[in-house]
Amino acid sequence: MMEHLLLQNLTKRFQDVTAVQDLWLSVNAGEILALLGPSGCGKSTTLQMIAGMLRPDTGSIVLDGKTLNAVPPENRDIALVLQRGLLFPHLTVGENVAFGLKMRGVNRVDRESKAKLILSQVQLEGFANRKPAELSGGQAQRVALARSLIIQPKLLLLDEPLSALDANLREEMQELILRLQADTGITMLVVTHDQSEAVVMAQRIALMFDGRLRQVAPPEQLYGQPVDERTARFMGGVNFFLAEARGTQWTLENRQILTSQQPAEGRVWVTIRPEQIQIFPAPIDAVNCIQAIVTTNRFMGTQRRLTLTAGDLTLQVWTTPGQDWHIDQTVWAVLPLDAVWCFPVTETSTAGQ
Ligand code: ADP
Ligand code: MG
Repeated sequence: MMEHLLLQNLTKRFQDVTAVQDLWLSVNAGEILALLGPSGCGKSTTLQMIAGMLRPDTGSIVLDGKTLNAVPPENRDIALVLQRGLLFPHLTVGENVAFGLKMRGVNRVDRESKAKLILSQVQLEGFANRKPAELSGGQAQRVALARSLIIQPKLLLLDEPLSALDANLREEMQELILRLQADTGITMLVVTHDQSEAVVMAQRIALMFDGRLRQVAPPEQLYGQPVDERTARFMGGVNFFLAEARGTQWTLENRQILTSQQPAEGRVWVTIRPEQIQIFPAPIDAVNCIQAIVTTNRFMGTQRRLTLTAGDLTLQVWTTPGQDWHIDQTVWAVLPLDAVWCFPVTETSTAGQ
């Protein structure tokens, strides 16, 4: 795949805060990459450097082989959509959308026909004469998208574009953005603090903590093979067990031995995602089959969350809602050997505390 955007060694400090440190990242042409991380980890600072609103202290920004550091924002061929679209309140929707073309000297007839076309792509046919004050939050964000796409930028940056919307609308907008990407082939870098949003939208996720990139990988890999405990927890991990690893045999603190596919040595945290544990009412012939007792059972609508206890081992299991497990029932939990994963214990590890 062709490399489109390349961030090399980017660092940005504000007084005593290092907002972004030594960041290296490449985004492929036509890719949607999510920049994910908790609030304050440096996501917006990174986008603002790419867009040209902030100047990096060190490092370079390369788009299509051209270094952008000295290029002013308006000449970068990059569009930025923010959490709230900041439309011009006195202009109509159609004029807002066509604004970028007007700045580029495109005549009125062409502007209006292009604006009409792109408004239909964001499902706002017939809205051209409204004022921004007459739009819902979701409609305003669609206008903001249309306004960015009409200038056919090489790169679309989205900074928490959906976080001001309610959950149902957010899903619709995710679909819409994915469809727009498929239609236009534009490269997108989407900032979010919401791991589920990153997973739905992106082909790859770049996870950031404290100004530094921690792991860049497809969503499946970030879930199943997190590089460390903080990553695992951020991606919704809940099962963490201390163990002593000898190759693919890992001995837990309660002497239970797990078999894995991933060889490791020494003291490790073992993790498995709660939805990957399988449970059975009777013993089955499988590796990593552990007898346990159901200690909590919560129906969550689309899933059922169980806590299983096996001696001093506690397992969180998320299963389908229909199965009828009950408290104090004896069950057999299977931890599939390709689903158990581990990483070394480090000084900053907090699991199990
Ligand atoms: P995110 O978008 O991931 O929430 P930001 O990039 O906005 O994080 O901020 C990263 C860090 O830099 C935070 O500690 C924030 O307080 C700090 N920061 C951001 N912008 C400024 C600024 N203009 N002046 C001082 N500190 C800033
Ligand atoms: Mg931000």
